[in-house]
Amino acid sequence: MRKTKELLARLASGKTLIADGATGTMLQAAGLPLGTPPERWNLEQPEKIIALHRAYIEAGSQIILTNSFGGSRIKLNRAGCAALTLEVNRAAARLARQAAGSDVFVAGDIGPSGELLEPYGDLTYANAVGAFAEQAVALAEGGADCLWVETMMSLEEAKAAIEGAKQATDLPILCSLSFGPGGRTMMGVTPEGAIEALWPLGLAACGGNCGQGPEQMVGTIRRMAAARSEVILIVKPNAGLPRLVDGKQVYDMPPEEMARHMLGCLAAGARIIGSCCGSTPDHIRAIARVVQARAKANTPA
Ligand SMILES: [Zn+2]
Repeated sequence: MRKTKELLARLASGKTLIADGATGTMLQAAGLPLGTPPERWNLEQPEKIIALHRAYIEAGSQIILTNSFGGSRIKLNRAGCAALTLEVNRAAARLARQAAGSDVFVAGDIGPSGELLEPYGDLTYANAVGAFAEQAVALAEGGADCLWVETMMSLEEAKAAIEGAKQATDLPILCSLSFGPGGRTMMGVTPEGAIEALWPLGLAACGGNCGQGPEQMVGTIRRMAAARSEVILIVKPNAGLPRLVDGKQVYDMPPEEMARHMLGCLAAGARIIGSCCGSTPDHIRAIARVVQARAKANTPA
C-alpha cells in the first residue's frame, strides 16, 4: 500500500529520516558484471535486489531507493536495453515495495540521463522531460511513495526530471545534486544556486548526494540551509573521498568514522540522511546509531 501521506506527515514532523546506502557498488560486489546496467537485475536477479533492500532496512533505513538510477530510456538506450524501460522501472518499485512492507518508505530513484542537454550536448529539454516522465509513471505504477531525483549535476537536467515527474504523477519529489571539489557540481552549480532554482518548483526535500565525503558535505548543507531555512535537507554522501587505485575509484571511510562526521551534517540541518557510493549496510547501521543517540540526547527526560 502506498504511504505517500505518511511520508509527508513524517517530513513535516521535523524528525530525522534515515535513508539507505550505495546500490551500484553493492551490486558490483554481489557479482553484477561490469557494463551490465544494474536495472537489468530487477528482472534477472530480483532476489538479490530484495536482499540488498532488506539488508539496509535491517540496518535502520526508513526510506529506500529503488534500483532504477540509470532507468531512463535515454540511459538504458546507451546499453541497448531501451525496450526494457517500463518493465525494469515497474519491477524496481515493486521489489522495493515488497522489501519495505508497511514500515518503510519507497523512493523511486531517477538518476541523470548520461547525456548533456543542449547547448552542451544533443539532448533537448523536451526529450529529457519526456524520458523522465515515462520513468516516473513506471515507478509510480510499481508502488513508489515518492520520486527521488538524484546525483544531478546540471540544473537544467534536474529541472527536466522534476518537470517530467510532475507532469506524469502526483507523487512528492525529492531532489539531490552531486557537489564536487569547491562545493560546485561538475556543471558549476552552487548549493545556493540549486536551492534557489529548484525549491520553488515544489519539492518535498532537496540536498546533496554522492560527490564528496561527509566532511565536505557539511559545508554544502550549511550553505543550503542559509539560502532558505524552510528546506528539508537531504545528505547522502559517499563513504569518504574517492581515491584512485589501479584505475578504479575506491571509497573506504569506515562506518564509525563516517557516522561521526554525519553528526556535523545533522547539526548543519540535514533531515534525510544516508550514504552513497562505497557505503554498506554497516555504514547505515552506524549512522542510525548516532541519529538515535542524538534524538535521545535532545529529548527532555
Ligand atoms: Zn554515489
